This record gives sequence, structure tokens and C-alpha cells, in this order.
Amino acid sequence: MTDYPHLLEPITLGDLTLRNRVIMGSMHTGLEDHTWQFPRLAEFFAERARGGVGLIITGGYAVNRRGWLKPFAGEMMSRLDAMRHRIITDAVHEAGGAIALQVIHAGRYGYSPFNAGASDIKSPITPFRPKRLSAKEIDRTADDFARSIALARKAGYDAVEVMGSEGYFINQMLARRTNDRTDEWGGTAAKRMRFPVEVIERARRLVGPDFPIIYRISLLDLVDDGQTWDEIAELARRLEAAGVTMFNTGIGWHEARVPTIITQVPQGAWLPWTERLKSVVSVPVSASNRINSPEQAEEIVATGRADLVSMARPFLADADFVNKAAQGRADEINTCIACNQACLDHTFRNRTASCLLNPRACHETKLVLAPTRTRKSVAVVGAGPAGLSAAIAAAERGLEVTLFEASDAIGGQFRHAMEIPGKEDFRESVRYWTRRLEVLRVDVRLNTRAAASDLAAYDEVVVATGVTGRAIDIPGADHPSVVSYADLLSGRITAGERVAVIGAGGVGVDVAHFLSHDGDEKIDDWYAHWGVSTGNEVGGLVTKAARPKVRDVHLLQRKTTPIGKGLGKTSGWAHRAVLKDSGVRQVSGVTYERIDDDGLHLTVDGVPQVLGVDTIVVCAGQVSVRAVYDELLSTTDTRGGSGKGVHLIGGADVAAELDAKRAIAQGTRLAASL
Ligand code: NAP
Ligand code: SF4
Repeated sequence: MTDYPHLLEPITLGDLTLRNRVIMGSMHTGLEDHTWQFPRLAEFFAERARGGVGLIITGGYAVNRRGWLKPFAGEMMSRLDAMRHRIITDAVHEAGGAIALQVIHAGRYGYSPFNAGASDIKSPITPFRPKRLSAKEIDRTADDFARSIALARKAGYDAVEVMGSEGYFINQMLARRTNDRTDEWGGTAAKRMRFPVEVIERARRLVGPDFPIIYRISLLDLVDDGQTWDEIAELARRLEAAGVTMFNTGIGWHEARVPTIITQVPQGAWLPWTERLKSVVSVPVSASNRINSPEQAEEIVATGRADLVSMARPFLADADFVNKAAQGRADEINTCIACNQACLDHTFRNRTASCLLNPRACHETKLVLAPTRTRKSVAVVGAGPAGLSAAIAAAERGLEVTLFEASDAIGGQFRHAMEIPGKEDFRESVRYWTRRLEVLRVDVRLNTRAAASDLAAYDEVVVATGVTGRAIDIPGADHPSVVSYADLLSGRITAGERVAVIGAGGVGVDVAHFLSHDGDEKIDDWYAHWGVSTGNEVGGLVTKAARPKVRDVHLLQRKTTPIGKGLGKTSGWAHRAVLKDSGVRQVSGVTYERIDDDGLHLTVDGVPQVLGVDTIVVCAGQVSVRAVYDELLSTTDTRGGSGKGVHLIGGADVAAELDAKRAIAQGTRLAASL
């Protein structure tokens, strides 16, 4: 018996039978591009195959050099390439899994001076103007796709996925925005559809009728002059007739200004479009984007909204996602919180992807939590992300762990983050940590402020006492209107109608979002606020609806740089857009003068002004809390000397970079070394 009978039911795609309907969607991890990284990539995939996933899809491999994602990016162009991929396919098969190669042509998204496209219109997110391909070159590109697909089969892949979404070459061929041709490859919607149809027909001729060809279709382009729904439906029908085995789904081009996968996108937001696709084709359809739990995935398959569910980042966060679900241990799944901080933000900065919550992701061969036979006792002081990750990783290795926490709950700064609208998923991390501590029988002592004397008997002491909000040095800072962000987010105080936020870092931006949100945004409101069309509009876009104004919010910083500059590369723009659309007044270059009953006095551009606010929320960064660490260093204890076996991690170590990604990685690495 399982709680997920529909999700875990096998499905047959051509000559391939998958053990369940869970797909690990394509992600570019940064390990794809060099063959010397293939052993590492193979282990990354094999760990997920052992974790029970039905089908893994690789990151994109270029079908020709013009289609490179960046210079010398991964490609599938020759028998030699196919041979080199054997290490990957063998590893996955030995681990009991199945794997598909994604074939891609980056088109104008290629971060390379050799990129090429349907037209020479430059993309807003890459610096290189594409070469406009001739009709003959486009014809040859279709052959290149077909050849790559045939080579993938030779390499031992069980299937291929043709990347037709997210604004890459095929998607560019399909949209007027990027295809201004008037030859046989453009001019009308029907001619623009010809390219992907030719790709599938030519590939079918090479690989025969049964090799599974998955087509990743763009269900919504979310760009001006993109496709209409009617065009997408017609394309799907033609592709099915050409020989597609299954459709996977994609939402939004990379240049779209509507968020599609980050935390603030409601879960399952894109399912209505998947259902529409299912109503026009008869081959299986996979749902994707903002699905991160087995419950949600089961519901999607059980209700027939899709036949399979593709999740990508959830498999960075937890390689054992499927096994845990199948074994009745879903409450032990480390749920992806859609923050993008260690995955997409890394990819778009040319760094190897990983996961904020699981620093082992893509580092499986390097960060190993080896079981230990030594019977060491470990005290961890502080149950924020750093302390929790150290405690859990140490206990996983078999060490005896006691976790001290001064407050009545674990989670640290995550408890504040989960109060921010759109960051509700952060609760899942607290649930995961709580359950893992139980399962691993960590001795958790809440409401216990450990002193050095309490820690003397432990072999190792990990101090993860975190941070506290930095106090501001402004005359009148003790005025009753001044509150900390911790007090606001924990519900200890309620803000008035007019609020000033001092400090516009990650926390200030989050607090401004919290203050300007009415807490009642239904899914239709969300579409309307982002201008997503639920009809047949070009590109799936309509004019954005105004957001209701909840309060007067002023977000302030002393720097003269634009507010929100330091936010994540793939999510910061969306946070900034929400602030703007919510009417938050953002002011840089302020000098704080004083606070009194009239409000906050400041000077901007040499002009004095008073913000007549009821509440002033201080988000001025943090300072480390390390009293117990200092005490330990000055104490000679039973470990044989002051400071012996004492380790400092997380915000208690470096508050300036208060950053859960660094804290969790530091905690895990330390535990691996104890
Ligand atoms: P932060 O990024 O250091 O920002 C605090 C801001 O307060 C500074 O930028 C500074 O701006 C201002 N400030 C500093 N000292 C001040 C003082 N004495 N008086 C008045 N203003 C002062 O800290 P944070 O906002 O707490 O964020 C910390 C970290 O949390 C971030 O780096 C990020 O890693 C993480 N985080 C990220 C997000 C996100 O990406 N959405 C959300 C939450 C947290 P001025 O000096 O210019 O005034
Ligand atoms: Fe998910 Fe964030 Fe991890 Fe990326 S870094 S996989 S978004 S939790």
C-alpha cells in the first residue's frame, strides 16, 4: 500500500517502461560541459536513480556548435560524444534508473559570439547579436537535431527530450517576436511551426517508431509577440502526428518578466495550461513548474490533469524524494523552497549548481557524509540553519548529537522568512529538520541557553548561535514607533498604516513585501497582477492589473545604488517588480537625522523631509551572537584546553554575509569532517 498509487504506477513510453511517473526535469548543473566532469555528473544522476525517480532528463546538449549554450558547452554531435556519454548512461542503468538526453539549440540565448537564430534580433539577456541563418542552414539544423537524437540512442540513453520551450532556438522559430522571416521557415504561424515538426519527422526516420521522443513544449511564452494558445494547440497536434511520444511542458521564456518558478509563484499555477494540452493530444503529458511535493504530484496524476509529473529542483534538494514517498516517509523529504539561490543563480553566473538546503547536490563525490565508527559526542548550540545542518549531518554519520536551542522552536531566521508572503514553503524546511532530528534521535533541548560549563563533557562543540538585528544609531532610536523586523514578522507587534523600513537589503525588501501585501491574493489575482492571460492573447499576456494598496510603505537606504541590487540574479527582478507595483516608495541616498513623535526625519539630495510614519521597522543587517563561543575560548575544560574541539559556524561566524546557503554548507562540511 502506498499513499501515492497513481504517481508510483508504471507507464510505458514507446519501448521504455518507467517504474513510476516521476521525472527529474532537465537542469543545467555546469557539469555537462566537460567530459572530465562526467564521473561527477554520473554520480549525481546515479544517486537520484537510486533514490527511485522514474526518468532523469539531462541538461541540454547542443546539436551543433552554433547551438552551444556557451563556448565549448556540452554537445552531442559525433560518435565520440556518444561514446563518452556511456559513463553516464551506464551509471544510471546500474542504479536501476532510466535517463533521457535533452537536445538543445540555444539560438540567440547562446552566450557565445557564434550564436545564430531565425533572425538577427538580439535577446535582452545575452550580449551577442545572433547570425541570421539561411534557409539552407535551418534545414541543416533540423538534420543536426535528428542526428543528435540518433546518437543519444547509441550512447545508451533511454529517450530524448527536444527542448522546444523557454525561448531557445525552436521556441524562437515559433514566435513572431524572433522569427521575422518570409521564406519557407516563417511569415505565417504554419510556416513557423514547420521547423519542430521537421525535427521530429526526421528523427523518427532515423530512430524508428518506438524510441521515446519527448518534446518540451512552451505552453505560455509570456513575451510580447509570442505564440497564442491556438497556435500552441495546433503545434501540439502536428508534433503528435509527426511522432512525438510524450509532451513535457515549459512556461515562459528566460527573458519573460513574469516569474514562473520562484517561491512567490503559487504552487501548481501552470496546471490549467497542462490540462488544456492534454485535451488536444492523446499521447502522455507531463506537468512541470512549481510542483514540489508527492501529495501535489499524486493529486495531479490521480485527477487526470497530467499523466506524469516533472520536478527538477526538488531532486537537488533531495535525491531520495521518490523512495521516501514510496516508503511512507514523505515527511522526511527535504522540500525545495524555490529560492534559486544555489541552483539557477549559480548556473546563470557560470558556477556549478547545488542546493541551498542540500550542499551535497552536484558535489556527491566530494562532500561525503561517511559513517563513522568513532563514538564521539557532539554538542551543537543553536538550532538555526547552520546548527540544524551540522546536527543532522553529524547524526547521519552516526555521531551522538545534542542540540541546544535557547528559544522554544527550531528554525532560526527561517522562522522569519516563512512569514513573508510567497515564502510559505520555508515552513517545509522547518518540518523537514524537525522530523530528521526525531528520526536520527538527536537530543534536542529547547528553551535551553547552554553555558560553557554545560558543554564541557562533549568531545566536539559546534557554536551556531546565529545573529541578532543590528541596532541603529539615530537620535530617537528608542522611540516607541521603532521596532525590529523580528518583532514584526513574529507577530509580536502590528505595523501602522504608514511605515518606514530602515535598510533595504534582502530582509528590508522582504519586510516591505510583507507590509504591502493584503494576505488574500487568490490565483486569479496573481495572474492578473502579473498580466498572465487565461485566454488566447498573443504571448499569453494582458495588461497587468493594479495591486491593492495596503499601506504607505517607504523603503530606505543610505547607499545611492538602486534598491534590491544585491538580490538573487534570477529572483531579484521579480521582488523589485512587486515592490514597484505595490506602490512601495523606494528611496536611496538618505541621511537619517532623528526619530520623534512627528516621524522619521531625513535628508534626501540635501533636502530635509519628515516621513509622518506610525511604525519604523529596522532592517539594518545583523551582528553575530557569540557569547558562549567567547566563554568557551576562555575556559579550560575537560576537552583538555580552551577552545579545543570548538567550532564556530553560520551567522555567529560571519554575520555580514548572513546567508542560509553558506550557513548550511558550512554546517554540513564541518559535520563531514568531525
Ligand atoms: P543587509 O543585506 O546587510 O542589509 C542591511 C542594510 O541595512 C544595508 O544594506 C545597509 O544599507 C543598512 N544598514 C546597515 N547598517 C545600518 C545602520 N547602522 N543604520 C541604518 N542602516 C543600516 O542585511 P539583511 O537585509 O538583513 O540581509 C542579510 C542577508 O540575508 C542578505 O545578504 C541575504 O543573503 C539574505 N536574505 C536575502 C533575501 C532575498 O534575496 N530575498 C531575503 C532575506 C535575506 P545602507 O547602509 O545603504 O543604508
Ligand atoms: Fe530549491 Fe533553492 Fe535548493 Fe534551488 S537552491 S533546489 S530553489 S531549495
